[in-house]
Amino acid sequence: ALALVWFRNDLRLDDNPALQAALDNGYVPIPVYIHAPDEGGDWAPGAASDAWRHRSLAALDEALRRRGSQLRHFFGPSLATLQSLIATTGAEAVFWNRRYEPAHERRDAHIKTTLRHEGLRVESFNAALLFEPWTVRNKQGLPFKVFTPYWKTLLTQWQLGLCIDAPSRLPHSDEGPSGVSLDALKLAPKLAWDRGFWDEWTPGEAGAHAALDTFVDGALRGYREQRDRPDRVGTSRLSPHLHFGEIAPWRVASVLERERTAANGADIDAFLRELGWREFAHHLLHHFPETPDHNFDARFNDFAWSNVSPDRLADWQQGRTGVPIIDAGMRELWHTGWMHNRVRMIVASFLTKHLRYHWRHGARWFWDTLIDADLANNTLGWQWVAGTGADAAPYFRVFNPVLQASKFDPDGRYIARWVPELAGLPVPLRFSPWQDPQALRRVAPDYPPQPLVDMGAGRESALAAYRKLRG
Ligand code: FAD
Repeated sequence: ALALVWFRNDLRLDDNPALQAALDNGYVPIPVYIHAPDEGGDWAPGAASDAWRHRSLAALDEALRRRGSQLRHFFGPSLATLQSLIATTGAEAVFWNRRYEPAHERRDAHIKTTLRHEGLRVESFNAALLFEPWTVRNKQGLPFKVFTPYWKTLLTQWQLGLCIDAPSRLPHSDEGPSGVSLDALKLAPKLAWDRGFWDEWTPGEAGAHAALDTFVDGALRGYREQRDRPDRVGTSRLSPHLHFGEIAPWRVASVLERERTAANGADIDAFLRELGWREFAHHLLHHFPETPDHNFDARFNDFAWSNVSPDRLADWQQGRTGVPIIDAGMRELWHTGWMHNRVRMIVASFLTKHLRYHWRHGARWFWDTLIDADLANNTLGWQWVAGTGADAAPYFRVFNPVLQASKFDPDGRYIARWVPELAGLPVPLRFSPWQDPQALRRVAPDYPPQPLVDMGAGRESALAAYRKLRG
């Protein structure tokens, strides 16, 4: 008998419970990918995400072909496509791994009910998380809203899934339509604005494993101290791989546990805690599905956000604010599809506090430009920095971009890499070049002579708006 295995954000063959279930139950799996961006609702995938997915799907197809199978691509809508595949192949079962975005949860529940009514065997599995969102509750039986007690609870229930390597051969069937080509899905950009990405990234399962190996042999040592340094490779860079499900989080955790020694224990704990934030983000998104579009903290519904000036927003987006650490981060994002976590916090603080723009404007830009754009993590990140979120940094905590840069990029190397026109300035001036207008004009005549907002005035007006809210 045949089973459709519907691939979504689980683009791997190792540790893939849906695929395993098909095989364990004696089905011949038909691997399927359905392109249906509209089914993400207001949060259809962005351009950088599509560019990654194109390559990741190609890698998955190649891995399937090496094992005697292949991936078939189709256009949505998902339910009608599955139904027509069931009719033409005679498949008796459909297996997939779960997604947690609200629009996808709704869609999948509907598809499951409909197909079961039609007599199909339909099962879904967890491939993305260490703990499913509904399995973790506080003492009152409610979802957590604060990270530390959530994390402590996870640790008391800590048990990692088994790691299961993909079989070296897969049974194959030619029944039914072979679908459209990957290129027909038009996920890859027409103009190669993503060219710079691929010097840094290798989408797909092999790339994910290579990134983990590189981390274990390199940045893991000292992670706890180095993870805040954008001028170094101090983190794992696993985020896009985890987002697209190219590697299971329990495999990442298991590999690290195997490496545990007295010397690296604190680094491993610090890393697992970050994976814990990823779990927490998914927990929040599942239980508070309106938060990608609305303040978690409803007090902020009355907050006096500034009206957006399209020019100023574009200056932020394109790295022309005149504040070097901000411009460096925004240019890193544009060129590589990724930005260091510390810098994400600094640029988000600048947008939501110094410019006092609603966090939604930043979240949207990240959504379109990040290769790791993830509705759970992005929502948590923006609401955390803006002060509107669950367990967020308080709004009155305004990052000073000059101090942040001097602390976390002390030699100005990150700034020099991404804003090379400032590399000719001595180090302290790279953090606040407006302090020596002559030197700035000489070295970088095209760089903004003044920051988009005065640091002190921006901070004060943000705090004043906040005080009004409380008053
Ligand atoms: P590492 O430090 O090596 O961490 C390992 C893994 O833990 C990451 O791959 C990621 O899956 C998870 N993780 C780490 N930090 C966080 C965090 N703060 N919240 C949730 N999970 C975390 N991350 C995304 O994956 N997608 C996003 O769209 C996203 N948007 C963000 C927006 C803002 C404003 C902020 C402040 C943070 C955002 N993050 C997002 C979280 C974080 O910046 C990235 O996960 C991290 O920089 C990825 O780099 P890494 O894999 O080297 O991280």
